[in-house]
Amino acid sequence: MKQLVILSGKGGTGKTTVAAAFAHLAAEGPAYRCEVPPIRAVLADADVDAANLDLVLAPTELEAHDFTGGAIAIIDPDLCDSCGICTEVCRFDAIPEPAFPDPAIVDPVACDGCAACVYQCPPQAIHMEQQMAGQWFRSDTSYGPLFHAALRPGQENSGRLVTMVRQQARLLALDDSYELIIIDGPPGIGCPVISAATGTDLALLVTEPTVAGAHDLARMLQTTEHFGIPALVCINKADLHPEGVTTIESFCRQRGVDVVGHIPFDTDVTRAMVEGLPVTRWQDNAVARELCRVWARVVSVLEEDKMHNSASTP
Ligand code: SF4
Ligand code: SF4
Repeated sequence: MKQLVILSGKGGTGKTTVAAAFAHLAAEGPAYRCEVPPIRAVLADADVDAANLDLVLAPTELEAHDFTGGAIAIIDPDLCDSCGICTEVCRFDAIPEPAFPDPAIVDPVACDGCAACVYQCPPQAIHMEQQMAGQWFRSDTSYGPLFHAALRPGQENSGRLVTMVRQQARLLALDDSYELIIIDGPPGIGCPVISAATGTDLALLVTEPTVAGAHDLARMLQTTEHFGIPALVCINKADLHPEGVTTIESFCRQRGVDVVGHIPFDTDVTRAMVEGLPVTRWQDNAVARELCRVWARVVSVLEEDKMHNSASTP
């Protein structure tokens, strides 16, 4: 079983468009001159801060599970005597000075969960409570099972939630002998990206032919190289800035990284999203055909890797 992660340096680069198209092509097999046979794939949306793969894949939710994050301080108003000690103790300004006789109140967004106030409160009016930070879901789609999640606004621990989504996808893939996990990764290079990418067999880095796109790509490549993940590059909206494409291609050549796709700009991508369909299913256009070529190349690299692995396996 292989794991493919699709990453981009920032949101809105086309990562989810690519992930949804791959989900469709894996499920459907040959389409739009794509000769790749169907591949049984589990889908994972690891962009838990702004999950949107479910908007395109129209899932039916099968299971929902709570995800607990860090603990925050809770003050019992019946025990609090408004002494204000906790306000002085809190280095995160999470407890405004109480006005006697009103009890102190914790700002749940500012609270860092350090528990310093708990130990300093004379009447022991403060205790720590785990917070529900979000939920993760197992759903069914026309293209295969989908694991996705939603982190509550202001909650941290998105890296842990990404790990949870990936673990669940992997367990199902192993139990039911799926061939591939397609992971729609979070944008950027932070902790959730590392959680989404570590241990994968291949990263497809989606970028745009802009100065910011080239800069983000360099940072993404640093991350994948650091974790020893082979990477391919796909340039989205490639026809909008040919000079930018040349810059990225030259940069990738120097780094020994293959550019496997040049997806043109097309408003059909937005129309397909509005209709809740992968663009490859929407209609046979230039974007769909290029995505088929990219998919074929990605599968071929994953299969080469499989051959190398089986050749080196005793
Ligand atoms: S330290 Fe305890 S008693 Fe004093 S204001 Fe804070 S919660 Fe209330
Ligand atoms: S747990 Fe720490 S951060 Fe939260 S209110 Fe208490 S002292 Fe402040």
